[in-house]
Amino acid sequence: MIGAAIACFLSRRGARPVVIERHEIAGAASGKSGGFLALDGCRGSPLDRLARRSFGLHAVLAEELGNPWGFRRLTTYSGHASEGGHAGGTARLPWLAGSVAITGRIGGPQTTAIVEPRAFTMGLMRAAEAAGAEVKRGTVTGLARSGVTLESGETVEGDAVVVAMGPWSNFSGLPPVYGFKGHSLVFRTGDAIPAEALFLEYREASGEVLSPEIFPRADGTVWACAISSTAALPPDPADVGPDAGAHARLEALCRSLAPALAEAPVVARQACFRPVTADGLPLMGRVPGLDNVYVATGHSVWGMLNAPATGEAMAELILDGAARQVDLAPFAPGRFQ
Ligand SMILES: Cc1cc2nc3c(=O)[nH]c(=O)nc-3n(C[C@H](O)[C@H](O)[C@H](O)COP(=O)(O)OP(=O)(O)OC[C@H]3O[C@@H](n4cnc5c(N)ncnc54)[C@H](O)[C@@H]3O)c2cc1C
Repeated sequence: MIGAAIACFLSRRGARPVVIERHEIAGAASGKSGGFLALDGCRGSPLDRLARRSFGLHAVLAEELGNPWGFRRLTTYSGHASEGGHAGGTARLPWLAGSVAITGRIGGPQTTAIVEPRAFTMGLMRAAEAAGAEVKRGTVTGLARSGVTLESGETVEGDAVVVAMGPWSNFSGLPPVYGFKGHSLVFRTGDAIPAEALFLEYREASGEVLSPEIFPRADGTVWACAISSTAALPPDPADVGPDAGAHARLEALCRSLAPALAEAPVVARQACFRPVTADGLPLMGRVPGLDNVYVATGHSVWGMLNAPATGEAMAELILDGAARQVDLAPFAPGRFQ
């Protein structure tokens, strides 16, 4: 997502980026994430300005590029439920089971939205290609004097290099990036569930509390997650798989939340890793001590939201020497030195 967004904004300004992909475009977290977007999602953090700019850019990109990724505005609620429980006399939504109590409204259509993340990533990549970018299959193994080296032995040269390999962005000279695993399911529900997203607290019979997120998408599917883990990141993105039992546990939870989810077929069972840094903020900027090397990763739980403004800012930084719309200083890779 981050590589595609940067390529999109660079190529639209006349540059000719080459995106080197080891596995497949949107084959990792960017194709499997929730795709949930919130204007206020990063309020109170140094990411706030980036997120606000990015939320606006999502609407602009959907308008400009025909929205094949189902950008859709949502009303978003918080609530709680417990396994086998009943919510009693609290607020409800008609499509939810009686066990789900609604406790708040997180946002409305002006402040919360969703994209289908794979289609969005592909959409920006295709827009980049239409403007002159190139996608090249290959495994980057290191930095060269002016470019990168590939596992094949080839060197790809460029005026600038941007490391945007999500949790795999670990080259010497760069601050470390880690992977934090999440599981998700996609149900086909047709039009049974309205444009209402949910963030819940769910108490299992064992007493363990999970935080399910339920997002209805424009294509008649519902994306759901609740189970994260500290499983190790495999070196090859193609080898990412689920933890034993995680999908069955998530499926049982989801089916208890709404009659429409109880009956719906599961069309995807997914696992992926969020890229995270030691201080929880992304790395965005020029890498000190290396010539013309930039990094853009570590977007953690908000990579889909923050991708457009990241693409715009990185393109400005590379082409103009500074980002104009957002201040990248809090994300400087040199902050760990
Ligand atoms: C369960 C889950 C739910 C999420 N929900 C949301 C959400 O609702 N909203 C939101 O805003 N964000 C969400 N996120 C976060 C978001 O998905 C990530 O922040 C974002 O996808 C990160 O994008 P990326 O491009 O940095 O990394 P990735 O998507 O991991 O992409 C990295 C790419 O680099 C490639 N690569 C790796 N190594 C090499 C190599 N050596 N050579 C060449 N290519 C290589 C990989 O194959 C991959 O395609 C979620 C994440 C998870 C895990």
